[in-house]
Amino acid sequence: MILPDTDSLRTRAEAALAACGARDDHPNPEGALTARTPITGGVLCRLTPTTSTQVSDAVADAHDAFLRWRTVPAPQRGALVRRLGELLTEHKSDLAALVTLEAGKITSEALGEVQEMIDVCEFAVGLSRQLYGRTMPSERAGHRLMETWHPLGVVAVISAFNFPVAVWSWNTALALVCGDTVVWKPSELTPLTAIACDALLRRAAEDVGAPAGVHRLVLGAGPVGEQLVDDPRVALVSATGSVRMGRAVGLRVAQRLGRCLLELGGNNAAVVAPSADLDLAVRGIVFSAAGTAGQRCTSLRRLIVHSSVADETIERVASAFRQLRVGNPLEADTLVGPLIRERSWEAMTAALDKARADGGTLVCGGERVESGGGHYVSPALVRMPAQTAVVREETFAPILYVLTYETLDEAIALHNDVPQGLSSSIFTTDQREAERFLAADGSDCGIANVNIGTSGAEIGGAFGGEKETGGGRESGSDAWKAYMRRATNTVNYSDQLPLAQGVKFGR
Ligand code: NAD
Repeated sequence: MILPDTDSLRTRAEAALAACGARDDHPNPEGALTARTPITGGVLCRLTPTTSTQVSDAVADAHDAFLRWRTVPAPQRGALVRRLGELLTEHKSDLAALVTLEAGKITSEALGEVQEMIDVCEFAVGLSRQLYGRTMPSERAGHRLMETWHPLGVVAVISAFNFPVAVWSWNTALALVCGDTVVWKPSELTPLTAIACDALLRRAAEDVGAPAGVHRLVLGAGPVGEQLVDDPRVALVSATGSVRMGRAVGLRVAQRLGRCLLELGGNNAAVVAPSADLDLAVRGIVFSAAGTAGQRCTSLRRLIVHSSVADETIERVASAFRQLRVGNPLEADTLVGPLIRERSWEAMTAALDKARADGGTLVCGGERVESGGGHYVSPALVRMPAQTAVVREETFAPILYVLTYETLDEAIALHNDVPQGLSSSIFTTDQREAERFLAADGSDCGIANVNIGTSGAEIGGAFGGEKETGGGRESGSDAWKAYMRRATNTVNYSDQLPLAQGVKFGR
């Protein structure tokens, strides 16, 4: 594999940042925060992490801005998000280049991630005219009962490396139209994409006359996040990342009785039934398992195949895995880019060792592809005799474990027997099986699909998962409600004062 040199990647990153208007933001040759590219493992830039005082100031700015922003009519708030969407469209290729350089996504997936930002802005602009409350019939004459939705306050967005921009936009576009302001702490592995997005949002705010403090960026690792989590001026902590991080954040926010929205790890499975259209299933399986080098929260990690089609499915998936081109994500015919870092490769080999010790058979892949730079691996397919502890864990790398089943009840039981509950799918042409999978006693995940893979959700639906995945919902449908507070209002327009439930008090 021939990789570009880090200098040329650095030049590319600098050009993309400059195009987004972020030329002078944050770089410091002595800085303690290092932006690397997983393409070569080399350094793109050194940056200064945000100090504790600056984090506190950022929250203060966002809180001041909130006090003004909350009174701006929602459709006018939508104008800011509309402008942001225009700027994201204008800079789609710059942002996608940064996503590829920092997160290692192939160009098509990086462009898709930026498109997701544009789509969610469009959704949020429409939403800015639809923040509906209900009116309920009052049991008392001359009374009106209704609910109204109000802005919540400062939202801290803590995001993961693998969706360095889309997750921010899901939160930010919605929060802004809901009247909230945002302090964003991106992953310490992807600060440059964040700097570019922040510059574009600042420009959008200037263009429409919104307060500058509607968005603040803070850079650094876990401790910067912890400070936001503990700050009582933060009304909602929206945190995306590992279950380990979610446990820590959830506990701390609960301690101050704050609100949080958690989007954590998954351990996603697909059931392949005897009636499955295997041509379609294999394509869905391969994209979900090997795409983004297995580094999506929705990546397919477990295949639960009916024994009658197991051999054929395994053979076809293995054949497709062997044909995937692993390499430089900037090249057009590459389908699998690098792992984010050395630690991911170590986790992958440790998981494969455990799977073998549990009686698993490596069908293909799981090898390091020599590059002289980043950490490139061939996606692994492992046939397992049972759902052992390693299969029940999320290993953030391209490993697909295969289990077999005899009855649909057995498949669903296996499917649900993991601590996580993010995404799931069934490949079947039998409507009864499909409906059973989607029913209350079917998949226990937040996302359950039929005849498509587990990854690649659209923004229109609410995104998130159950159990250890954290229970949060972001993006479409009514996910906006998490970013607002609900007030129930009773208005008495009569000259009487009847009490509810017929209670009499005094004369
Ligand atoms: P991570 O948990 O290491 O880091 C995520 C973010 O949390 C980073 O910004 C990090 O600095 C911050 N953080 C870490 N510890 C913290 C603490 N104690 N307090 C506050 N902030 C803290 O995750 P990662 O390696 O960047 O991302 C991969 C993980 O994220 C996987 O488990 C993946 O499944 C999950 N993920 C979930 C979703 C989802 O929507 N459910 C989406 C993307 C990624």
